[in-house]
Amino acid sequence: MATGLAGTGSRMDSRQATHGSALHVLAPDTVPATAPASTRETINVRATDRVPRQVSAAGVQATGAARGPGRDADQSAVDRSELPCRSHLPMTDFTGKHGLIVGVANKRSISWAIAQAVAKRGARLALTYQGRFEEHVHDLSQGLDQAPLILPCDVSSDTDIAAVFEKIDQEFGGLDFLVDGAAFAPREELEAPFVNTSREGFRVTKDISAYSLIALTRGALPLLEKRGGGSVLTLSYLGSERVFPNYNVMGVAKAALEATVRYLAADVGPKNIRVNAVSAGPIKTLAAAGIKGFSNILHIYPERAPLRRNVETAEVAEASAFLLSDAGKGITGEVLIVDAGFHVTGM
Ligand code: NAD
Repeated sequence: MATGLAGTGSRMDSRQATHGSALHVLAPDTVPATAPASTRETINVRATDRVPRQVSAAGVQATGAARGPGRDADQSAVDRSELPCRSHLPMTDFTGKHGLIVGVANKRSISWAIAQAVAKRGARLALTYQGRFEEHVHDLSQGLDQAPLILPCDVSSDTDIAAVFEKIDQEFGGLDFLVDGAAFAPREELEAPFVNTSREGFRVTKDISAYSLIALTRGALPLLEKRGGGSVLTLSYLGSERVFPNYNVMGVAKAALEATVRYLAADVGPKNIRVNAVSAGPIKTLAAAGIKGFSNILHIYPERAPLRRNVETAEVAEASAFLLSDAGKGITGEVLIVDAGFHVTGM
């Protein structure tokens, strides 16, 4: 949902936290020393995880070395498709996959819940932050088993976006998935009568909340292609097709975003890249707080939704992980509504 937050993208470099809890598990015998970095990936698993047993059963060597960021594109990599036990991994496993997640502001952010959902399944992440959220993102990242790459990115800046993908290419040598959870509307646009929507408010809302998906997908394209395809996901809301009080120009931006999902899906589908959206029910986040009367929406859902409750952030994240994973590999151009069923009701 929309927010009154200002776009204050910082140009500061990332501080890459190191986490010592991961074992670095390699399959050196499956990786030709001369193989290009783009065709190789690192498998990082904790000693307590289920995957290492499967991997080691296949003769893979555990080095025990604590890993640091920046090693994935070099010698410490393995092609997932070459793992002998690959067919035994669940479809929702993200071991060896790399993803970029945009839109983490704090622990309530839906993007953060998605980050946790895919990270616990083995993904290594790049997280971006907008300006003032740098410290939050660094603090949160301490809770991930694999140290993420943390980068500044204001999605209204093509320079920022280009820098993010350049760094990801250097560090990961490719990308498997992308989540765009950025949204913004000036606060006054979420209070005033819709007819008073300003030209500038309309422009900036659509730029950050809808165009960002095009710009990010374009930037990610060469990296996704290096992996033979991938999955792109964004977050929408039912205000794209129905009127909710004060959602205003953000509803128009979400309609544009959902149309963008379909057009992008058609465009990049031949490259084996999928593009989908999860449309979440109302959740109390920083962005939602910018919508006047948001608490009324939160109260009405449990009265009318078939499940008689609101959704939890983790439920949105699990559905997102499904669409990002191989389990969703036949799905593209879709808007999956995760709202306890509210959208099916007439009254
Ligand atoms: P949030 O405030 O945690 O996330 C919004 C994010 O957008 C923040 O991280 C913010 O930094 C980022 N952002 C804003 N302008 C930016 C810019 N110029 N450059 C880069 N990043 C920018 O709130 P959230 O509710 O987790 O929102 C995430 C997504 O979920 C949004 O698209 C929102 O519309 C959507 N959504 C939210 C709800 C809800 O009820 N909270 C429901 C449905 C959909």
